[in-house]
Amino acid sequence: MNNPSFASVQDMLASLRPSYPVMCFWPERIAQTARRFLDGFPGKVLYAVKCNPHGIVLDAMYGAGIRNFDTASLNEIALVDERFEDANCYFNHPVKSRAAIDSAVRVYGVNDFVVDHPSELGKLIEIAGPGHIIQVRLRTPGGVATFDLSAKFGADEDMGVELLREVVAQKSRPAVSFHVGSQCSKPSAYAKAFEIVARVLSRAGVAPEYINVGGGFPVSDAETKAPPLEEFFAQIRESAAQYGFLDKVPLYCEPGRGMVADAASLITQVHLRKDNQLYLNEGIFGSLSEIVYGDMRPPLQAIRLKGPLSNEMRPFTLFGPTCDSNDVVPHQFALPKDISEGDWIEVGGVGAYSNALQSSFNGFTTDTFVAIRGTMPSAFAP
Ligand SMILES: *Cc1c(COP(=O)(O)O)cnc(C)c1O
Repeated sequence: MNNPSFASVQDMLASLRPSYPVMCFWPERIAQTARRFLDGFPGKVLYAVKCNPHGIVLDAMYGAGIRNFDTASLNEIALVDERFEDANCYFNHPVKSRAAIDSAVRVYGVNDFVVDHPSELGKLIEIAGPGHIIQVRLRTPGGVATFDLSAKFGADEDMGVELLREVVAQKSRPAVSFHVGSQCSKPSAYAKAFEIVARVLSRAGVAPEYINVGGGFPVSDAETKAPPLEEFFAQIRESAAQYGFLDKVPLYCEPGRGMVADAASLITQVHLRKDNQLYLNEGIFGSLSEIVYGDMRPPLQAIRLKGPLSNEMRPFTLFGPTCDSNDVVPHQFALPKDISEGDWIEVGGVGAYSNALQSSFNGFTTDTFVAIRGTMPSAFAP
């Protein structure tokens, strides 16, 4: 499938004059961040497909050298496997159907799995047989990230020890994984996780194939600046060294958000203005749900093709297109005071968990995806 590409957002607007929402990706920005991970992370880099499975994103990753993908469903495995002949999929969901395990092994040759409970381990061995790499997902302390990923998954230390021993007893190959939570602002969260990993591995007395530090790498928004990726890489390297893993046990990471969040803008159009209320063609049931769930403050800019917009700003309430009263952004955003019907709003930093989460509620869905060539305007690349 070919997606159109344009020299700039302005160029796209002039050409399409879209009354529908348009998702714009900067593939060069994605590739740049992927290379930053590949060069800076002290180990193997997997891309977490769930974050944004769009073809433009996957192709940019692949072009930059990413060959390993964290997948959580048969659909994601098929998507990657059928797109890239030499890609490797890891089935990193702690709860899998028997059918999905069977197909992953037989059809797609998947060899890496995750478990966090003895029943899942039993199921996996029963369907997939012995000899696979089985990561034991450990729970890490919450409260360090916008989205806690240990509230639902992750074995406590005692169960982690038990599972690792059982993987070995079942003639399979143990590994360890964790996820400190998505949009994790503190490098020290990885240090705490390594402390748990070291304790569990030493109690279990098993040698892991690798330690998978998950995702969690944060991005800046319009109000909060995230520490640079390199600070996280340095902390991970330091913790791995502290417990004697560095250069002995391979490290893996599987970022989603940190790879793509800042590499996309959503272009939405104002369809009606009532005083300080703007009715847009995209909202929280569409690609902007993280503004609610993550309380994110993406950078916004108004765009008018014919004539200038006022430099004077005032706060506006943003309504989405559906007829549900809940379809409103829960805080106001500053926009030019004369913004009106037909103007566009560029919502920046929406590459992660945006189109991947959208519904088609009320018939509204973003289905136009374009690539913008070259480097990003700096206001939207914090
Ligand atoms: C969602 C997820 C990721 C990606 O997390 P980010 O915070 O987006 O980097 C990685 N690994 C697993 C197991 C996940 O569930």
